[in-house]
Amino acid sequence: MEITSEIKKTREIIKQAKAAGKTIGLVPTMGALHEGHLSLIRICRQKCDFVIVSIFVNPTQFGPAEDLAKYPRPFEWDCRLCRDNGVDLVFAPAAEEMYPQKQIIWVDVETLGDHLCGASRPGHFRGVCTVVAKLFNIITPDIACFGQKDAQQLAIIRQMVRGLNMNLEICPCPTVREPDGLALSSRNQYLDSQQRQQALCLLQALRRAGEMVAAGQSDTQAIIAAMKEIIERQPQTRIDYISIVDNDLLQPISRLDRPALIALAVYLGPTRLIDNIIVDPANKSL
Ligand code: AMP
Repeated sequence: MEITSEIKKTREIIKQAKAAGKTIGLVPTMGALHEGHLSLIRICRQKCDFVIVSIFVNPTQFGPAEDLAKYPRPFEWDCRLCRDNGVDLVFAPAAEEMYPQKQIIWVDVETLGDHLCGASRPGHFRGVCTVVAKLFNIITPDIACFGQKDAQQLAIIRQMVRGLNMNLEICPCPTVREPDGLALSSRNQYLDSQQRQQALCLLQALRRAGEMVAAGQSDTQAIIAAMKEIIERQPQTRIDYISIVDNDLLQPISRLDRPALIALAVYLGPTRLIDNIIVDPANKSL
């Protein structure tokens, strides 16, 4: 496995892999890798000949009051996990390599970017799209894998690829969870033991929503109210949002008459966690 931090060297390695007829797969990450990331790597491995993991804690997607400085960066450990999971190249640039000058060109997101996570994180998806577009231009992958755990990010990246005619396939990957159901996240390590226990209410609320849909409830406000009640029973929680939206343009829906995304973000103390499920009133919960 090779490790690069320079764009030029990375392009040379990829050029060679392409010349040897290999298909290129990319798994973009911010490091602090866990089983969720590893599942993306394994899916990418199955689909592509040459697997690249990018590790970059992208400053432009963090707000001024967010956890950029304290975001975990266990680089050696991440490289070991990549090596053990058959990655061919880790691309881990410094911020100066990705942003050598003040960024004046941005990929901006209309409609999908200003609610759900976008409401409490203004500019977040502009930062995400801009860095992902840069990674796509540097690596020119055939396939890029993204987790359903970040459902809004996945929907926006799909729209970006379609809207800007980018020549690659986006591969959505299922959410990996702890045995008790908590979605794996690099931010889970910020939780103390009480918060960790209380964090289970995210999935409990989503499961309740799934049951209500399966029982024929189509009033999204009633579903949201039931979810809210489950979460507010836990003293350390603060709800950022609970939304039921269509899974394409992420617009809120009042009656569940088609497949929908039920997404939520909840603070446990200072730590903000997200989770979601897709429901289909015709097929019960997916
Ligand atoms: P991050 O390092 O948090 O930016 O995540 C990198 C990629 O891993 C994104 O596509 C995430 O959606 C994905 N990911 C993060 N957590 C999980 C999880 N628990 N299950 C599946 N994919 C995940």
